[in-house]
Amino acid sequence: MDFLDVPTVLQVSALFNVVAALAWLGLAQVFRIAPRASRLMAAGHLLRFATHGCADCMADWPDVLRQGVPELGLLGSMLLLVMALRRMLRSRQRPHDLQWLGTLGALGIGAGLASGSGLAPQLAGTISTSALALLAVREVARGLGPQRSRLIALGMTAPFVGLALLGLGHTAELLFTPGWEDHVRLGVLPTPQRAVLWFVVTATITLNLIALMIWRLIARIEHLTHRDPLTGALNRRAFERALTDAQAQLQRGRGFALAIMDIDHFKRVNDGHGHAAGDAALQHCVRVWQRHLRAVDRLGRLGGEEFCVLMPLAQPGDLAGAATVAERLRVQLAAEPLEWKGQPLTLTCSVGVALPSEGDPHGEVGLVRADAELYRAKAEGRNRVCVATPLTADPVS
Ligand code: GH3
Ligand code: MG
Ligand code: MG
Repeated sequence: MDFLDVPTVLQVSALFNVVAALAWLGLAQVFRIAPRASRLMAAGHLLRFATHGCADCMADWPDVLRQGVPELGLLGSMLLLVMALRRMLRSRQRPHDLQWLGTLGALGIGAGLASGSGLAPQLAGTISTSALALLAVREVARGLGPQRSRLIALGMTAPFVGLALLGLGHTAELLFTPGWEDHVRLGVLPTPQRAVLWFVVTATITLNLIALMIWRLIARIEHLTHRDPLTGALNRRAFERALTDAQAQLQRGRGFALAIMDIDHFKRVNDGHGHAAGDAALQHCVRVWQRHLRAVDRLGRLGGEEFCVLMPLAQPGDLAGAATVAERLRVQLAAEPLEWKGQPLTLTCSVGVALPSEGDPHGEVGLVRADAELYRAKAEGRNRVCVATPLTADPVS
């Protein structure tokens, strides 16, 4: 890499930190995208620029500052980066581990500087930043969850693994290469390979985090377009799309059932306890039902206090199986009252269950049948499940 001029690489790297800091600040202030995480990232890049950006400026500094400032700066920027990462991934991890690692690292660097050793501060700084990089690997692996593809997980964790490996390699150099610790004191520049490698790893981390933000943004947009904002259930449009898809599968022998639930005397909740209690009741119902449904079942809010579950059936036409699920939803709702202002508020629902019909691309026939059964449940006294008889249900099996 003779063609590479190390001071130029270092200047590009410094410029990159400034541009990245401005980009994160822009995301935070102008676009309001994950503002706290973006501000933490901006602070991390600015700290790195301030403490590594100008080797010439530091040339006249006393040894203790020339050694201490970059080590503490790198440690601080890594701490800010892991904090930002946790925010982006909505980690619930408490910050104790970061506080410990940061304090131990800073104390190690401080004690090393005080001892006058060239080696100790660099070792303390390098080991603690490597530990933080490994922590970041764990955060990313946990935060992405099992539903992400292996390729994405690998791409997201790779630069942090790279950073940890660079740190461990540097630790070995410090320990086993005589005279290495004097490099900083003598102002020896890194080799071109090392300078480029550092730049590539840190730039990849930044690009990865930007990708993570975009992924979060897409997930948010998807959520907003498919979900009912109050309860988080599918909105009517998304539910109808799921129903149309399920109807298309019906011809291929994949049966399903529909259960329409309507909360009983819901108006009384609003009138007696206020609209906020009504909203909390709707959220409570969805929470309870979701807990007792499988991942393949789709729960949608059709409107007001009316919901519908689309349940794929293992055996097409298994109305009895669908009725059992509906009964479970009814029983569980009645058994788990909403706690409103310290008082239990019992909610019940009526449910109508029916099978769909073939040759009905949008599933309207199944919905009308389930709705008729819901009205029967209301008429028969509420808090019950009524099931369309197979004769009127025109089962598909
Ligand atoms: P029934 O047992 O016959 O179903 O009686 P009900 O009182 O549940 O039914 P009704 O259709 O008379 O009242 C439904 C009420 O639901 C009226 C409406 O104000 C209320 N509602 C609809 N959407 C919302 C909402 O998003 N939040 C709140 N708090 N109330 C809502
Ligand atoms: Mg109602
Ligand atoms: Mg209603």
